[in-house]
Amino acid sequence: MKAWLKFSPKMVNQAVITHMIKKFDVSFNILRADINPKGGQMLIEISGPDAKEGIEYIKKAGIDVSPVKRVVKKDEELCIDCGACISLCPVKAIEIEKDWTVDVKDKECIGCKLCTFSCPTKAIKVVE
Ligand code: SF4
Ligand code: SF4
Repeated sequence: MKAWLKFSPKMVNQAVITHMIKKFDVSFNILRADINPKGGQMLIEISGPDAKEGIEYIKKAGIDVSPVKRVVKKDEELCIDCGACISLCPVKAIEIEKDWTVDVKDKECIGCKLCTFSCPTKAIKVVE
């Protein structure tokens, strides 16, 4: 699953994530992070047999967890299916469908935002 983790100022210097990774059988990737001594947030992807337990552990420790299904959203009205975003996606999350429309696969997207810069009609926006 993907989730935003929100850190209060008092949680910024705590090693909660490190402890969670050591304690549970999880695979943990940081997709985006914006954290300073005043707090901040991190977009993560967590999977593995103990993913649920790992999430519960960091919640109990005081980190706010908001699961996300979608990191970017394509505005169907604005998209002209030009395909300019496809080759820029580093994880091949954007594909041309059989009917020649362009689709963003939410499951694969890592929220890097590269596609948002390439779009001539500004059809792709990051969902915060
Ligand atoms: S945000 Fe990055 S990973 Fe997601 S669809 Fe766009 S280019 Fe691909
Ligand atoms: S670059 Fe923009 S307009 Fe072109 S296919 Fe991608 S989302 Fe649609």
